[in-house]
Amino acid sequence: MAVMHYDKDADLRVLKGKKIAIIGFGSQGHAHALNMYESGLDVIVGLKKDSKSKKIAEEAGLSVYEPAEASKKADIIMMLVPDQVQKDVYYSQIRENLEEGNILMFAHGFNIHFHQIIPEPNVDVLMVAPKGPGHLVRRTYEEGNGVPALLAIYQDFSGKGKEMGLAYAKGIGATRAGVLETTFKEETETDLFGEQCVLCGGTSELVRAGFETLVEAGYQPEVAYFECLHELKLIVDLIYESGISGMRYSISDTAEYGDLIVGKKVIGENSRAAMKEALKRIQDGGFARDWILENQAGRPVFNAVRKREAKHQIEQVGKKLRSMMSWIKK
Ligand code: NAD
Ligand code: MG
Repeated sequence: MAVMHYDKDADLRVLKGKKIAIIGFGSQGHAHALNMYESGLDVIVGLKKDSKSKKIAEEAGLSVYEPAEASKKADIIMMLVPDQVQKDVYYSQIRENLEEGNILMFAHGFNIHFHQIIPEPNVDVLMVAPKGPGHLVRRTYEEGNGVPALLAIYQDFSGKGKEMGLAYAKGIGATRAGVLETTFKEETETDLFGEQCVLCGGTSELVRAGFETLVEAGYQPEVAYFECLHELKLIVDLIYESGISGMRYSISDTAEYGDLIVGKKVIGENSRAAMKEALKRIQDGGFARDWILENQAGRPVFNAVRKREAKHQIEQVGKKLRSMMSWIKK
């Protein structure tokens, strides 16, 4: 059974007197640091000397140090630099500054689960992984709400890993929405699966395939854009609020009949087989190896495909149409 935790299950007082270093001030880093700070905790930020974020963090009232210095000062070190640089940052600046009983934290399990970082046995190794992008971790906190998170304990040297992890989750607002207990293995594998097959990979290709099918059949690209991309948000908002059946309640019966009958033909056996294959490559480490080697090679494939896809017709059409919708943030 799933174990969920809420505000009443977490006590911020266990973090009193502890210094928390947030390493990195990007999407997750700025949200964790600012939320923690406003929760009344003792938080500092670790950034490269030339980082552009330094000024922003300092103006918000946070003290900024280089990652080595920040981890030396801190009792709790949260790794929020990109996954592909964590190994290097850890071994060059953090490991030697970890003291017995410190807590090393992650927001995604990649480097621990795939053994890129192998921590010393005398520290706690925890994960608090918000299930949402950093800007929402920040915005929902400011609104008095939160983004749900996963909590996992890889190493519990102190024996207090769970209460410390829960308190951290409360500090960023996650216990307002719910914190679910998991393992580094489960979080890493399901996170990679979700972003590859459903949230990012699956959705981008579904949108593009629909757009291309309409445009190739001679329909106006603008119509195809509104239909296959713009409206997706409206449908996803309904699903987010009330599930798939709730969304179906709001659409017309004609739309619902098409949904019930045709959806299964589009995402059919082929797609399910592809999802199983993707999951297998995540589980056996094949995807991790490719991504690690791709980074070591200077990202030739990543850069080529990203550049090609940024030129896709749907991006040009979308840019023009969105520029007329003043309420959409740039
Ligand atoms: P990001 O790319 O937005 O930010 C990275 C930060 O690290 C920046 O401040 C950057 O200046 C700094 N940085 C980069 N290289 C550095 C180096 N060599 N030394 C020191 N600092 C360096 O990263 P992110 O998307 O916030 O991801 C951080 C972690 O959070 C990852 O483990 C990721 O998997 C996890 N996560 C991210 C999201 C998300 O919404 N983006 C969601 C859940 C979990
Ligand atoms: Mg993710």
